[in-house]
Amino acid sequence: MAFGKVSAWSLVVVVIGLLITALMVGGGQVLLANSARNNAQSTLDDIGRRVVDSAEQSFDEALTAMTGLAVQGVDRCTEANIDQLRRAVYSAYAVKEIGLTEAAGGVHCDHLGRGAPHMQPVSDAFEGRNPAIRFRAVVSVEGGASGAMLTWDQSDGTIFSAVVLGRALAVDLLPDDWRTVGAAVIRLDDGTLLASAGSGMAAVEDDAKHPPAIGSGIVESHVHSDRYPIQVTVAVPFEVVWKDYEDLDSYIKAGGVLLAIFVISIAGLIARNTGDGPINEIEHAIQNSEFLPYYQPVVDIRTGRLEGCEALIRWKKPDGTVLSPGAFIGLAEATGLAVPMTRLLMEKVRDDLEQVYHERPHLKVSINLFRDHFDSIDITEDVEQIFGKSKIRYRQLVFEVTEREPLADLDTAKLVIRRLQSFGCRVALDDAGTGHSGLAYLQELAMDVLKIDKLFVDAIGTNRYAAPIIHSLVGLARNCHMSVIAEGVETVEQIEYLKALGISAAQGYVFAPPLPAAAFLKLATAMEPLKYESLVEPPDLDFVDIEPAGLDKRKRRAG
Ligand code: C2E
Ligand code: CA
Ligand code: CA
Repeated sequence: MAFGKVSAWSLVVVVIGLLITALMVGGGQVLLANSARNNAQSTLDDIGRRVVDSAEQSFDEALTAMTGLAVQGVDRCTEANIDQLRRAVYSAYAVKEIGLTEAAGGVHCDHLGRGAPHMQPVSDAFEGRNPAIRFRAVVSVEGGASGAMLTWDQSDGTIFSAVVLGRALAVDLLPDDWRTVGAAVIRLDDGTLLASAGSGMAAVEDDAKHPPAIGSGIVESHVHSDRYPIQVTVAVPFEVVWKDYEDLDSYIKAGGVLLAIFVISIAGLIARNTGDGPINEIEHAIQNSEFLPYYQPVVDIRTGRLEGCEALIRWKKPDGTVLSPGAFIGLAEATGLAVPMTRLLMEKVRDDLEQVYHERPHLKVSINLFRDHFDSIDITEDVEQIFGKSKIRYRQLVFEVTEREPLADLDTAKLVIRRLQSFGCRVALDDAGTGHSGLAYLQELAMDVLKIDKLFVDAIGTNRYAAPIIHSLVGLARNCHMSVIAEGVETVEQIEYLKALGISAAQGYVFAPPLPAAAFLKLATAMEPLKYESLVEPPDLDFVDIEPAGLDKRKRRAG
């Protein structure tokens, strides 16, 4: 049997613990992602600054070359001057082409003596801080090479131009594992692309156009030149950055799993010390057969004969202590153990009483049922299985249902009651007067016996309101054709009062407390001795209405 009930405390600990674990794992991942992003950001800022430095140096070289030509007085497209242009190109690493446009007439030549510019502008001219110097994006007429062209208007009208190729501008400073996925891009301030490095530009640009989900996306740095109208963007997808942190991420997750296991173990310990302990103990006690019935006699107060008994459960612990039901039935009921507990009790009732009850067929035994028993037909199967083949007859059995708490499912309760009655068993309303069951409820359930609660019996002679209540309960029982038993009778005055009301059956300390089986059987055989071999069954006695035959026999016995 598995009764996996978990105490409220252990549940609370599990829930709080798992929340903390989730927060810690989630928080750890956010912190890790932030630190990954920040580290990548500062690496990119650094790369961006170095790309800008390098581009500035290339522009510096081009301007130095043009300044040198102006200083040397180069202002015409003569053979000697073209030679000067060529030298200038060769001595400046970043400069790939220098051209000259004469002041008067606009004749043009480049360092190779070509009359038309070899690089074509693909953007408007963009002025830098010095308005005499303009910047353009250019591509070679054959296509392929691209870069920036600087044109410098001299005061005498001569114009020099110098081309710096892209690869001298956007130097590839990306680390190896970022090169294929990231990019460094250099642009004029108006946004015109001058050059790029790294092959991930398309991906990076695309990502920038479609904002990515949180935690992915790109990390990028923008660095602007203080001296030239250019800006550099360096970017890399975040997932590439995150790869270096995946190990740490797995450690955080593994730590989370360990923490969750720890929390659940703690909850288990708490459960053992709070709710689960007693439940396991009850389950264990059922398996160990530690529950047993005591029997309280029910007596006919008019004749003094024994009518039967009520079986009342006790928990006899291995150390010999005997617990009363108040100490454990609430818990057994709350944990679904009430049904197996009652099954054990009924088996013991059968074994204890079988012989004596077989010989005295007028004796009855009352068994208390729980609310749960009326939620399904199962109890009737248990009764059949336990008493079906026993020597105790079904008509010797009474099943009690308490009025203290209302039944949950009246239709099923009715089925259970009908089925038990169809076997020949009887059903009693226990603790009558304490609950809220009206006449309609009683009529609908059609029970056989009504047990007047001790509360009203106690009040006899002390409380003037008790009498009308007992009167109306007896009236109710008669209307519903039920027999009556008075419970908790402690004094002779109470017996007299009940007798005067026409009540004939009673149980209480005035006769006997609940007795262990051996004591009850001794009492039963003493009170109801077998006068002759039971070849003929003695007549069946009812709890209330003693049949005339029974009375006669009693009289004969007394006489
Ligand atoms: P109950 O069914 O009303 O049983 C009568 C209770 O009153 C018993 O208490 C009995 O010992 C006590 N009693 C009998 N005569 C007197 C008396 O003259 N004076 C006083 N002061 N008390 C008297 P017990 O055995 O402690 O049982 C308490 C309750 O526990 C029972 O009340 C019943 O509701 C429940 N119970 C006991 N055994 C079982 C069981 O096997 N199944 C179920 N479902 N409930 C049980
Ligand atoms: Ca009872
Ligand atoms: Ca009772």
